[in-house]
Amino acid sequence: MPAHGRNTYDPAAVRGDFPILSRTIYNKPLRFLDNGASAQKPQSVLDAVQNSYAREYANVHRGAHYLSGAATEAYEGVREKVAGLLNAPAPETVVFTKNVTEAINLVACSWADAHLSAGDEIVITQMEHHANIVPWQLLRDRKGIVLRVAPVEDDGQFDLEKFAALLTDRTKLVSVTHVSNVLGTVVPVAEVTRLAQAAGACVLIDGAQGVVHQPVDVQAIGCDFYAFTGHKLYGPTGIGVLYGTAERLAETPPWQGGGDMIESVSFEKTVYADPPLRFEAGTPPFVQAIGLGAAIDYVQALGMEAIGAHEHLLCSHAMAALRAVPGVRPIGEAPDKAAIVSFVVDGLHSMDVGAILDRQGIAVRVGHHCAQPLMARMGIESTVRASMALYNTTDEIDALAAGIRHAQKLLA
Ligand SMILES: *Cc1c(COP(=O)(O)O)cnc(C)c1O
Repeated sequence: MPAHGRNTYDPAAVRGDFPILSRTIYNKPLRFLDNGASAQKPQSVLDAVQNSYAREYANVHRGAHYLSGAATEAYEGVREKVAGLLNAPAPETVVFTKNVTEAINLVACSWADAHLSAGDEIVITQMEHHANIVPWQLLRDRKGIVLRVAPVEDDGQFDLEKFAALLTDRTKLVSVTHVSNVLGTVVPVAEVTRLAQAAGACVLIDGAQGVVHQPVDVQAIGCDFYAFTGHKLYGPTGIGVLYGTAERLAETPPWQGGGDMIESVSFEKTVYADPPLRFEAGTPPFVQAIGLGAAIDYVQALGMEAIGAHEHLLCSHAMAALRAVPGVRPIGEAPDKAAIVSFVVDGLHSMDVGAILDRQGIAVRVGHHCAQPLMARMGIESTVRASMALYNTTDEIDALAAGIRHAQKLLA
């Protein structure tokens, strides 16, 4: 029986919904702790994708026939599900992209390109993923805008006062991560938004790690844009979301031209479609969107609150387990922290630790996690990162701690 509709959170039942979790790696049970890079998929997502191709497949928004209508209805239905997940006011505020990276680039190339000019400022933070750094550097190089960077504390905390001190009357955009993919730090995005908007700035939140660990309410946050990526939320690859307020999307020019994003085309004049279709040129990844819809159904049946509570337990357990291993130093100990734990092991290379963990079936990520400026800030080159998901268990974390001790013995 699927874990849907159970009263108490039962990780064993949840695990049964994910076929890949029953496989072995080097004859060891798979312990998948690399969810910050991408999460595994429940059977219902696999079924939704399979059903779309096998039974309901035709291009969307085009044909006058039954299957095209069915696919269009399914695709547009996912817009409503995403709006529900984010508590967005309307499905028209939901734009589909291929991932969060593309969503941020959309804002950089269209909204920011149209509304910022030389000397205007953008504020980001030291803990951004490269996806929320490089698009602004490209814009800077194109337009001569100024990029300011809010600091993080030694323990990974975000300092609101230091952030606020960077806001000026030239700040046009604040773009911050909701949750750090390396430190797990939860940024107080509602306060950030309030401060930024009071200074006259537009706010974009990189929610790639935000939507997966906790409930998100974009209206309560008050942000102008919120972006996330489907594959980290148990959905397929190739689908992401940009939420934008109706006002912001209305003042955002098109960024890619083609079919589906127009009302009418002649060689003299083309009239663009209204948002969100204005930003979805060409055949969209609608099968992937349908898979994302199934993923949203799945997490909502479990409940984002319940998922967050389970992961909170995992995070506390993991921090305690790591602190109990001599020579292990956690990187990122903010009090408000999602279930992402990074650490270094004294005297050992992260790569070597990762390789030894791998031989025990434990999948972690090692390296800079697409956050090289944050590594530089912390004075390290890489970390080992264990990032938890709704299906992980405390047993798996104990196996991780034992694996680290094993690595220390082998490499001593
Ligand atoms: C993973 C991640 C991204 C990039 O996601 P893509 O799916 O590769 O676009 C951006 N920001 C954060 C915080 C992430 O964790």
